[in-house]
Amino acid sequence: MTNIYDMTREELIDWLGTKNVKSFKAIQIYEWLYMNRVKSFDAMTNLKKDFIEELKKEFTIEELKIKKLETSETTLKYLFELNDGNFIEAVVMKHDYGVSVCVSSQIGCNMGCAFCESGRLKKVRDLLPGEIIGQLLAIEENSGLKINSVVIMGIGEPFDNYDNIIRFLKIVNDAKGMAIGARHITVSTSGIVSKIREFSDFPLQINLAVSLHAPNDEIRNRIMKINKVYNIDTLMEAIREYTTKTNRRVTIEYVMLKGINDSKECAQELVNLLRGMNVYVNLIPYNETSHSEFEKSSTKRKDDFFEILNKSGITVTVRREFGGGISAACGQLRANEVER
Ligand code: SAH
Ligand code: SF4
Repeated sequence: MTNIYDMTREELIDWLGTKNVKSFKAIQIYEWLYMNRVKSFDAMTNLKKDFIEELKKEFTIEELKIKKLETSETTLKYLFELNDGNFIEAVVMKHDYGVSVCVSSQIGCNMGCAFCESGRLKKVRDLLPGEIIGQLLAIEENSGLKINSVVIMGIGEPFDNYDNIIRFLKIVNDAKGMAIGARHITVSTSGIVSKIREFSDFPLQINLAVSLHAPNDEIRNRIMKINKVYNIDTLMEAIREYTTKTNRRVTIEYVMLKGINDSKECAQELVNLLRGMNVYVNLIPYNETSHSEFEKSSTKRKDDFFEILNKSGITVTVRREFGGGISAACGQLRANEVER
């Protein structure tokens, strides 16, 4: 049996073709699922009874269970239980311009970045598209909020689950699906160069963010294992090709780690590295976690770093801090749950 939320509209149309059913039925099914949000095939009242039986033989309609919810004024943090008993999480951030949701792409992560809670627990498996869509559906149903934008920055490395992420992007962007505009969707990768290349051929105008976190190989090797596979030169070359080919600006994520990558020299090195590229830098305040020896940079360090970039003509923003007081670093709720 297949969870119907795993199916892109194209895939559904292909399946309908094998049953000699006209392709517009896919639109009707999508409208029931994503507009009317029904949770059973019997509720799809404009479909014939025997067709509904065919659907039931092939598909299920799977929902995610909300296991825990932590809230603050600007943040909702959900821990979900999947059908096989695994846990994942998603974070809702309320901005003045709308509601954005950070979804997980895998159960755990194999990239093993030294500062990251998600990578502390090895990957159990990839998430299916319907399990990522399920996070959005459960959040809208539970919170009553309308989601305006989606970032794939929760647990997992999306480009280590590439095919499912592509299917998820199609469903979430589909005008008859979740109908979230491509420019309101961001995928963040730790820098899997082969997939950055592949992604440059994907036709939707999705935003790409790359977790750089260091201005040179020496520092990056210490905190991100992936750098031993794809070093900074290789990564920068792939980003250059991507921006040239797609004409889209890439976000460079840079988490500020005290005494590791936050010196003025690092800032200057970063300027030299990025000069002339079609990118902007997002400085991320580090969320300290109980299991990690890494610490957050001081405000002064962050401000100095910001100024050096800014004065050199690099567009730079500082990520607003969300979720203070609740298990803020993505991966924390799950890590606590799994270790109990
Ligand atoms: N695997 C992908 C996407 C998920 S991580 C990636 O690495 O890009 C999303 C972002 O959160 C990454 O930039 C990651 O480095 C950062 N991050 C991880 N742990 C963090 C923490 N404790 N505090 C702040 N940012 C963190
Ligand atoms: Fe995985 Fe991203 Fe965490 Fe690295 S930062 S361990 S790639 S989730």
